[in-house]
Amino acid sequence: MSEARQGSTAQGLGAAGPLDAVIVGAGFAGLYMLHRLRGLGLSARVFEAGADVGGTWYWNRYPGARCDVESMQYSFSFSEDLQQDWRWTERFAGQPEILAYANHVADRFDLRRNIQFGTRVVSASFDEAAQLWRIETDRGDRVSAAFCIMATGCLSAGRVPEIAGMGEFRGPSYHTGQWPHEGVDFAGQRVGVIGTGSSAIQSIPVIAEQAAHVTVFQRTPNFSVPARNGPLPPEYERDWKASYAERRSRARTLKSGIIYNFGETSALAVSAEEREREYQARWEAGGISLLSAYTDLALDKEANDTAAEFVRQQIRSIVRDPAVAEALLPTSHPIGTKRICVDTGYFETFNRPNVTLVDLRASPITRVTPGGIATRDAEYAVDSIVYATGFDAMTGSLLKVNPRGRGGLALAQKWAEGPRSYLGLMTAGFPNLFTITGPGSPSVLSNMIVSIEQHVDWIADCLAYLRAHGVACMEATPEAEDAWVAHGNEVAHRTLYPQANSWYMGANIEGKPRVFMPYIGGVGVYRETCDVVAASGYEGFRLTRRQQAAAAE
Ligand code: NAP
Repeated sequence: MSEARQGSTAQGLGAAGPLDAVIVGAGFAGLYMLHRLRGLGLSARVFEAGADVGGTWYWNRYPGARCDVESMQYSFSFSEDLQQDWRWTERFAGQPEILAYANHVADRFDLRRNIQFGTRVVSASFDEAAQLWRIETDRGDRVSAAFCIMATGCLSAGRVPEIAGMGEFRGPSYHTGQWPHEGVDFAGQRVGVIGTGSSAIQSIPVIAEQAAHVTVFQRTPNFSVPARNGPLPPEYERDWKASYAERRSRARTLKSGIIYNFGETSALAVSAEEREREYQARWEAGGISLLSAYTDLALDKEANDTAAEFVRQQIRSIVRDPAVAEALLPTSHPIGTKRICVDTGYFETFNRPNVTLVDLRASPITRVTPGGIATRDAEYAVDSIVYATGFDAMTGSLLKVNPRGRGGLALAQKWAEGPRSYLGLMTAGFPNLFTITGPGSPSVLSNMIVSIEQHVDWIADCLAYLRAHGVACMEATPEAEDAWVAHGNEVAHRTLYPQANSWYMGANIEGKPRVFMPYIGGVGVYRETCDVVAASGYEGFRLTRRQQAAAAE
């Protein structure tokens, strides 16, 4: 860090000289990153496109939006006071409560004074001569910083498919990830919902209670398990809080960063009756622990089939019309290889007289008309359309910032064949650019808050090390990156995951390279790898000291 910056303390928004760091995004990652940097006495400014904190929980306000990870686990662990003080009301928190929590964190740690809201970063370029990132925003800000830290989220760049006639639709259209803050009153309306991923599966039952009619346009049936949400029992909360530190430590060693009841045998090592009992118990308990019942559900198709067939049986038993039940059965991918959904009354909703399922495999959407949605065989009149059509996951929000590294190379160009990184933290050719929960890290395959805390702590400790050792510039080496990418691919292809056309594979975006983007080796193993790299003096990264950097100019 330069002399000018060295003595800097946390500067406010009016900082004139280069900052130590710019952080892009004020979701959970950006908030905690800011907190850590301030603790190190570094100057930082956060740019946030939204009008307030919360990131994904700020934008995704669709009816029924709720977290799939239990509240006691989907929360920060870095402050014992915070985790003891905060009280969740439900087993799985709804979006308003999670957003209230993000606001509480921002206030409690006095974070807002270094966050510039309503401001989107539109470009970030590395100035090699000055060894600084030059950041520009859509509000005309131009700031420089030694480090640029992307806290842009993995599922933040909403995606609406291009369907002929969309512009001619007379009524309002909504994307679940950009829901109006004032809410939407669907009373008396005919609503068309396109998509059957997590967002759709959560919102459809709630919309159906309000609307005159809901028509669900399903292209791929999805696996979903019941949440069995409810008020958080006080004794459960007390129990967790009494041993929070211990439980959090354990979660950090696990594959997904989430404590479940983990089975210890192969699904094929037990009798069909025993399996049925186990799946049934987990189905009754709710949440995604069904996928943790046996050790090989993500690895062995035959084992996986047992869990998939169990869920299909549940669907058949819930949905009264056999033809509708049949159309809802997921068969195109092994269970869990597309993100499993967690619902409250999703399949039951198809028993309502005001809900119609349209199977797009039999008859695809051909166009949106002024008054509805047309498939090859019919036209469905609707007053409003909900696009629950997902995100340009993992890379979309990073590339929107248009980072340019050495020689002006655009990240979009470097990643034209798919994202490449070292540990999901840095990418070669882009010095001093960190990606929190970037592609190549466990991120979306884990409890996001566990992974966010791990990355933020690693980056903060790294910046402290660089300062202590007079390092001006840090960059992943191409060799380390190649090895990490090869390892990531190798681990992914040991599993069933690449068999699905999922957003993990980039398969939901036309033209996006098919690469398995998150690191599937597990949160615990991954953390150890990152820690070993740090303890070795950052093996696989090139560190350039201040004098060397100056001499190279
Ligand atoms: P998604 O899982 O990508 O689902 C998008 C849906 O839209 C899919 O059913 C897709 O069908 C459909 N679709 C896309 N383009 C279409 C087209 N042109 N015509 C018809 N259908 C089309 O998106 P999401 O539901 O927003 O969820 C994304 C991720 O966000 C989740 O997997 C999860 O990780 C996260 N999330 C989490 C929660 C939670 O914690 N509770 C809630 C919501 C979201 P195909 O499958 O055929 O492509």
